[in-house]
Amino acid sequence: MEKINGKYAIQGIPVLSICEKYDTPLYVYDTAIMKRQYDKLIHAFQGVELKINYACKALTNLNVLRFFKSLGAGLDTVSIQEVMLGLKAGFAPNDIIFTPNCVSLEEIKMAVDLGVKINIDNISILEQFGHEYGNKIPVCIRFNPHIMAGGNAKISTGHIDSKFGISIYQLRHVERVVASQNIRVSGLHMHTGSDILDVDVFLRGADILLELAHTFKDLEYIDFGSGFKVAYKPDDVTTDVDLLGEKMTERFKNFCQSYGKKLTLMFEPGKFLVSEAGYFFAKVNVIKQTTATVFAGIDSGLNHLIRPMFYDSYHHIINVSNPDATPRIYTVVGYICETDTFGWDRKINEIREGDVLCFFNAGAYGFMMASNYNSRFRPAEVLIHEGKDYLITRRETLDDLIRNQIMIESI
Ligand SMILES: *Cc1c(COP(=O)(O)O)cnc(C)c1O
Repeated sequence: MEKINGKYAIQGIPVLSICEKYDTPLYVYDTAIMKRQYDKLIHAFQGVELKINYACKALTNLNVLRFFKSLGAGLDTVSIQEVMLGLKAGFAPNDIIFTPNCVSLEEIKMAVDLGVKINIDNISILEQFGHEYGNKIPVCIRFNPHIMAGGNAKISTGHIDSKFGISIYQLRHVERVVASQNIRVSGLHMHTGSDILDVDVFLRGADILLELAHTFKDLEYIDFGSGFKVAYKPDDVTTDVDLLGEKMTERFKNFCQSYGKKLTLMFEPGKFLVSEAGYFFAKVNVIKQTTATVFAGIDSGLNHLIRPMFYDSYHHIINVSNPDATPRIYTVVGYICETDTFGWDRKINEIREGDVLCFFNAGAYGFMMASNYNSRFRPAEVLIHEGKDYLITRRETLDDLIRNQIMIESI
């Protein structure tokens, strides 16, 4: 978001005019930022075969999927429905990897039938998969390197108590299953969490995975997951992807040399690619002064953006309607009949009732986790692409709320 003549704009379009045109609450995404983030990774990991699979659970709008496809990305999916969306968006099956957790063998078989790459994260399913397909369908195995990483416990997946992946200490067991069922292991995978700041944490995980990799003779790719931290505040520190790229490509090249084959290095970022590309706009319904604080109550709540309440995530909030006013202290809350606080004691330019607030970092896990709680409509989504605004999801209506309900006659 830039400021033009004192007014906030995205790709030259004033944000207030976007909000007027499509109404609030509203999600707005900027493809230029998605591309900037994608290019950062491509630039950081040079000299190796690199494939970036966009972890689409962060934001699955078909237009966003098609945009990443146009950049050359593959897709990381966690449900058969995401696989189907990816295919609908035009991805080749081989450019989609299915990385579910605790799904049924039936769902995995459906993914096999759709021709996508399969990633398995437990020994039971691996055994059944081998029994079913032998070496006919290659698989990727998700290992858990047991490193504590990630912003908080809800978003870290690599620790000892995590449900994700097969423990590295079960390597012998995996080897036995692979050998006895004649399974072709074409990929190895790890994903240790979200918001990992420290390059060394990544490298430790990578070293562990690369050491394991010598055990498997048919590898084609190694997938190092995601977890790059993005900026949540104007001067936040983020994962140094250039440093990571430099160190990891060096390790990866050395590995390929000793392995005797050039493998593909894969990553599957979600947040890194779309978090900063998204803005959430909501209008202030009421300014409520209590004995303790000044609340700004907006026309939205945890039904539309649950991350602050669910993960204690920080979303920077600005008043786009009053950009030059003196900052004051506000607690920004939603309209849900439950405590839904977006931010305590935020310094925001003076808010008047009717002003539009903008929440940053709303591209990842924002709209995707939106619900109809309190029987509210989910917001519309707008994409800003090459200087133009496009409605990509229309606002819901009452019909949407009751579409799947069935009236019974005996009442
Ligand atoms: C959620 C998820 C990702 C993306 O994580 P981000 O923190 O959004 O980058 C990547 N891989 C897998 C397997 C995931 O489940």
